[in-house]
Amino acid sequence: MAKIFQLNEHLSNKIAAGEVVERPASVVKELVENAIDANSTTIRVDVEEGGLASIRVLDDGDGIEEDDLETAFDRHATSKIKYDQDLFRIKTLGFRGEALPSIASVSKLTLKTSSGNHEGHELYVEGGHIKERKSASPRKGTEIRITDLFYNTPARLKYLKTIHTELGHISDVMNRMALSHPEKSFILTHNRKTVLQTAGNGDLTRVIASIYGTSVARKIIKTESESLDFKITGYIAKPEVTRSNRSYMSTIINGRFVKNYALVRAIQEGYHTLLPIGKFPLVVLHIEMNPLLVDVNVHPSKLEVRISKEGKLQELVTAMIKDAFKQVRLIPEVSEKI
Ligand code: ADP
Ligand code: MG
Repeated sequence: MAKIFQLNEHLSNKIAAGEVVERPASVVKELVENAIDANSTTIRVDVEEGGLASIRVLDDGDGIEEDDLETAFDRHATSKIKYDQDLFRIKTLGFRGEALPSIASVSKLTLKTSSGNHEGHELYVEGGHIKERKSASPRKGTEIRITDLFYNTPARLKYLKTIHTELGHISDVMNRMALSHPEKSFILTHNRKTVLQTAGNGDLTRVIASIYGTSVARKIIKTESESLDFKITGYIAKPEVTRSNRSYMSTIINGRFVKNYALVRAIQEGYHTLLPIGKFPLVVLHIEMNPLLVDVNVHPSKLEVRISKEGKLQELVTAMIKDAFKQVRLIPEVSEKI
């Protein structure tokens, strides 16, 4: 008698949700990434009670076609890759086709979308089951509203922290998105109060000012470096701006915010003796490279990546930061002598 059976789709989506949807901030991350991939220029996120009561993400992007509406909620269904070799040239933030089915399987979700032609469509999905479909306004873009997150996964619900903590995670996600995409406008509100708003005019110093304050932004040096494989633009705070943990070193590869210890070490090496022991710098690095050189398929959240030629990239980062400070320090030395 056979004992091994293929899980039904609802159950396998719920299992996948365990990895993709850890907390309200993961929902925000996935939905905002989808909005970015859809070429939106303004992305608005409204959350209530730290995302525990509701999360709404509104974009002005390409929208979802009528024929794709239900497929978008199928597991491993994506418009972003098609062939094996596409996995080595990923330019979008998403490609695994897991976010919508995972989120939908553990929440109550309303989707309104239109590609801006004549009509819009609305879908209501509860615990992964499509319950209702109707027409909606033809406003170009997509709006997704999530309520009752984890209503059918009690253990996960219990694990959530206070509203304050969950909002902190959401705010981190939005800050990272804004630092990664200064060309897009991001708005985050919590219980109707604005938490973050960026202009979307491409000026990263302005984004840094919105997140870290104008006094920090005034102490930022913009620097650049390029090799055959990498192009780096760095916004590096003068050593007088110190922080007591490493989370102010933001590294962005091809528009994706990543965590990479080698890059963090290279940045710290660039500051070397300029910072007191136990203090860390504030840096935003934008790195462009051939997608072939970076493997983003390491973890479902894609926060960790593997970089080929990592050593070369480290050298470039360290040298760029050292050079930037050499040039800046020349100025006071000269003026002191006059
Ligand atoms: P992935 O992003 O990995 O493709 P998702 O489950 O996040 O998978 O989304 C499934 C598909 O739904 C996407 O490939 C995309 O075609 C469509 N989609 C999701 N969100 C949006 C959005 N905000 N605007 C336009 N299309 C979207
Ligand atoms: Mg996605």
